[in-house]
Amino acid sequence: MNFKDYIRVIPDFPQPGIRFKDITTLLQNGPVYKEAIEQLKQLIQDKEIDVIAGPEARGFVIGAPLATALGVGFIPIRKSGKLPGETIEADYALEYGKDKLAMHKDAIKPGQKVLIADDLLATGGTIQTSVDLIKQLGGEIVGAAFLIELTYLDGRSKFEGFDVVSLVQY
Ligand code: 5GP
Repeated sequence: MNFKDYIRVIPDFPQPGIRFKDITTLLQNGPVYKEAIEQLKQLIQDKEIDVIAGPEARGFVIGAPLATALGVGFIPIRKSGKLPGETIEADYALEYGKDKLAMHKDAIKPGQKVLIADDLLATGGTIQTSVDLIKQLGGEIVGAAFLIELTYLDGRSKFEGFDVVSLVQY
């Protein structure tokens, strides 16, 4: 299956010069969405995973179905101010803009093996911040899985010590 046929590229969103990869056109197609999750599952099959963590909001639509497919828990990484319990927070820079990510302090038990999932790897800033938060909580990162990787931004070069896998590359 060529997943690119189902991903819509929108020029100049959310800013001039950005060619936004819109995954809503893939998500709305049941068999294609299911197949994407199935193929991502194959890519991480060899790993020992206790939980999957994914950043708001599109990390949820990849990470949560992947977690249920594996039968492991899902941990939301959210924008500051959204989680009701005690949190830790970290600043991050995006391909466009800036924000703060947060996790519940008790979301991960020390030593748990964590896979990070998101829709798209661009500069790697979001995932770097997610890695920092998970490590602060004592989690061990065993991998990162993406639907899409923008290889020209070389986000994966930021990461050492765990595998980075993606289904579709631009
Ligand atoms: P990074 O932090 O790697 O530079 O940017 C990746 C994050 O920004 C991801 O959480 C992703 O959801 C969002 N993002 C950046 N560019 C795009 C894009 O073209 N399409 C989609 N769907 N998300 C993007």
